[in-house]
Amino acid sequence: MSPLDLSAIPVVDNHCHGMYRDADHLDIPAWRRLFTEAYGAAAQREHVATTLFYQRLLRALAAFWDCAPDEDAVLAARGRYTGDERIRALLHAANIAALLVDQGYPPRDQVLPDSDVAALAGCRTFPMLRLEPLMERLIAEHPTFADVEDALRAALADVRAQGYVALKSIAAYRTGLDIRVWDRADAEASFAEARRIARETGALRLAQKPLLDTLLHVAFAEAARQELPMQFHTGYGDTDADMLLANPLHLRGVLEQRAYRGMRVVLLHECYPYTRQGGYLAAVYDHVYLDLSYAIPFLGYGELVACTRAAFGVAPYSKLMYSSDAVGLPELLWISARDGRRALGQVLGDIVEAGDLDVATAEIAGAAVLHDNAVRVYDLSS
Ligand SMILES: [Zn+2]
Repeated sequence: MSPLDLSAIPVVDNHCHGMYRDADHLDIPAWRRLFTEAYGAAAQREHVATTLFYQRLLRALAAFWDCAPDEDAVLAARGRYTGDERIRALLHAANIAALLVDQGYPPRDQVLPDSDVAALAGCRTFPMLRLEPLMERLIAEHPTFADVEDALRAALADVRAQGYVALKSIAAYRTGLDIRVWDRADAEASFAEARRIARETGALRLAQKPLLDTLLHVAFAEAARQELPMQFHTGYGDTDADMLLANPLHLRGVLEQRAYRGMRVVLLHECYPYTRQGGYLAAVYDHVYLDLSYAIPFLGYGELVACTRAAFGVAPYSKLMYSSDAVGLPELLWISARDGRRALGQVLGDIVEAGDLDVATAEIAGAAVLHDNAVRVYDLSS
């Protein structure tokens, strides 16, 4: 069976980030650094250029801008256009219906207003509220732990009324996904330590596990009550993650909690490399969904196909949703849409050939993953 052609289906990108204001004139080292999660100097300087993702991106962009497939030519070609022109050209080519944008990273003063991106791309944008920066602000502002809990509950009392369509947590790469219920004394001690650090350094990076876990339970209760989507970073990402603790199977305690069943749990980044584990959770828990992210993690095309196949192999396709996780660059939004449709079309073609789905149902599944499931899960239809 030949691949399904999904190019006509506009994508709802259920997890991405803002577009940088100032990424017009990048030299090769600055450009390369945008395509690796590694902190190592050699990785950023040299090794990134030998990844399959990077090589594929260069060749795809060379074809898009009609130039030679090397770094100098691609950077010169993109430099001939303004940032606005690049966003308009690439995002129109990507056929994007909507972008769900994590407001927590990059800092908002480094990115364009989402409304500008929406106007340039001809798409809708929806903000998502990242919990940890909100918690950090409230910890700095309030002298007692009980006050922080009350303030967090109040801040999350009606999330949709503030315009947000989802919450997001990065606990995976702060303290891990084994989110526990702590004794009050442990949470209080953890709060005192965070306050001391905030006072002494003027900044707080919330990484005190009893404190973060306890505040997350406040957020989960609100998310469940409002039937909100709650995105969890899982798997691949920031290198400060202990990848063992970013395994979504650690969420069992949260997922088993009856009081939280109203919360729509979205496992981000296909849980890479724990894609089968994420697919399993989406298969067995009514309220769990698996995000299939096609720009970040930075993967070879064959690995995108393998992850897509693994997800389809176990999870209902009504539980899978497309994203890019693109940060800062329209190039990432664009190549994700291109490769996501291509990988999905290839996997669905194979699935038809294997006899699991007929062609008509495979086409419905493609539209579900690229568009329809996210509209339903995030209530985007109105
Ligand atoms: Zn992200």
